[in-house]
Amino acid sequence: MSTTSHWFLLFGLSALLGGLVGSFLNVVSHRLPAGLSIVHPPSSCPHCKHPIRPWHNVPVVGWLTLRGQCRDCSEPISVRYPIVEFATASLFALLFFHIVGGPSGIAEPSALLVFLVYSFYFSALLAIGLIDADHFIVPDVISLPLVPLGITAVALLETAGLSRLSGVTLPSAVLGALAGGGVMVALAAFGRLLFGREALGMGDVKLVAAIGAWQGAHPALLLTVFLGSLLGSVVGISSMLIRGRQRYAKLPFGPYLCAGALVAWLWGDALLARIASGLL
Ligand SMILES: [Zn+2]
Repeated sequence: MSTTSHWFLLFGLSALLGGLVGSFLNVVSHRLPAGLSIVHPPSSCPHCKHPIRPWHNVPVVGWLTLRGQCRDCSEPISVRYPIVEFATASLFALLFFHIVGGPSGIAEPSALLVFLVYSFYFSALLAIGLIDADHFIVPDVISLPLVPLGITAVALLETAGLSRLSGVTLPSAVLGALAGGGVMVALAAFGRLLFGREALGMGDVKLVAAIGAWQGAHPALLLTVFLGSLLGSVVGISSMLIRGRQRYAKLPFGPYLCAGALVAWLWGDALLARIASGLL
């Protein structure tokens, strides 16, 4: 097989893996907050409890062949399922492109390892974002293990000589976790002083500590918090304008922090250079 067709195969497999992970994230974000097992029982229709046939579980395609309805009771199946599957497939494709690169990139198989490691991390962030958007909670069971896992992953990749692919070194990861948690604790205290109420939860503190552990201190943290706040404000203000939400209506911060972390990872350096040249 030529290098190019080999690359296309790997790229396609990565996107497919993303779709399957997205299908799993649908299960996780639905069951975890409800305290249910994420592995048992297999997926079933929430209305009639009929088990989903394996071929209908194929990411996106399954939902499309069912035309968004349960085969057994015809109740509609939320369009959110294929959207999450498609988004995760796109996320994996984007990460593959960013870390492995074009056809010449697969000459270095270790890039695939870095891709898999960081796909795992961003899948965990996506699960956190989905759960926070629905339930206003950053689940400790995901965010807390991410901190030591991130530092360990960075340390192992660095030992294997791969930190130039991840862009993160061990000192930066440790500093990132500490500074990330610290900055958010300070912001939470400041918010309490300013608004006289809880503006930031401890969940957000742990989430940013995890982001720092995986992405390092600079420029990831600054950009994550900045972009997260910016995105959150834009969405919050527009939803107030459109739907007339209460001024202090509760808004989840997690999804925006996760989106900010992804943007910082993919385009952080370029973005920072752009901002700096604009200021000078
Ligand atoms: Zn059904």
